[in-house]
Amino acid sequence: MGKRILITGAAGFLGSHLCDRFLSEGFLVVGMDNLLTGNIKNIEHLFPVKEFEFYHHDVTKFVHVPGAIDYILHFASPASPIDYLKMPIQTLKVGALGTHNLLGLAKSKGARILVASTSEVYGDPLIHPQTEEYWGNVNPVGPRGVYDEAKRFMESITMAYHNFHGVETRIIRIFNTYGPRMRLDDGRALPTFMSQALRGENLTVYGDGSQTRSFCYVDDLVDGIYRLLMSNYHRPVNIGNPSEITLLQFAEEVIALTGTTSKIVYEPLPQDDPKQRQPNITKAREILGWEPKVDRHEGLKRTLAYFKEHI
Ligand code: UDP
Repeated sequence: MGKRILITGAAGFLGSHLCDRFLSEGFLVVGMDNLLTGNIKNIEHLFPVKEFEFYHHDVTKFVHVPGAIDYILHFASPASPIDYLKMPIQTLKVGALGTHNLLGLAKSKGARILVASTSEVYGDPLIHPQTEEYWGNVNPVGPRGVYDEAKRFMESITMAYHNFHGVETRIIRIFNTYGPRMRLDDGRALPTFMSQALRGENLTVYGDGSQTRSFCYVDDLVDGIYRLLMSNYHRPVNIGNPSEITLLQFAEEVIALTGTTSKIVYEPLPQDDPKQRQPNITKAREILGWEPKVDRHEGLKRTLAYFKEHI
């Protein structure tokens, strides 16, 4: 009998790729999603698969799953800045109450749980690149506070369940990730730039475009998650691609790749927008033997193919 894994946020961008990966590794997959920001189309192809089940459920409410569960991946949450600005309370609840419910489930089932934390725990970072030892620079009452603090609480309660209840826990800090199945209208830089380029609209760069991010292709991220889950390391691990780029350069790359006649226009920088972000991935390299394999040119090409089909 294959191992059984519960994946929350299963209809989302990352959750749906995780369902695919764990099914291909021979797991029985239980997907769970309340479809607040997830899209059932992302997992439609899995409904005929007998090793896949789906629960339409909100994990901020008590979570009941009959039968054995060996692993849990908690990936449910609004994850783009415009989503958590629109849904601040849900964002706090899924990171806090949802995590609590899933840790309780892990404890009662004897399951190992991996929770999806984020580079946002570093806030607008004062050290660069960010190592796991850095405690961060977060504004708790700013617009991003609802996401950042929910994820910081997630890490704290996860460590508490590990230390106090002996639950087997894993914490990943995910840096900017992109690829097929991102929502075209999720407001993040890549889907926005690609949709604008494909529609012949101007690309909206916020601020002067000098802020940086480091973008990881989704298949690389999923491989890092798989390796971390299977490892015996319970402290937080950064997973991301250290190749750092300014947002202005990023917009220019999208323009060049799509061959659009669109230009760049500048709009105001959102409050508390981090100025720079790059993961230090020494831990992932040493502990998991992981590093990203797909470079940005290749990753953007694959993503463009998806966006062309879905625009
Ligand atoms: N950004 C931009 N234009 C857009 C959307 C985003 O210049 O249309 C910028 C945003 O201000 C930030 C960066 O792109 O500096 C990455 O934003 P995203 O929403 O993708 O994620 P974040 O890393 O800020 O959570």
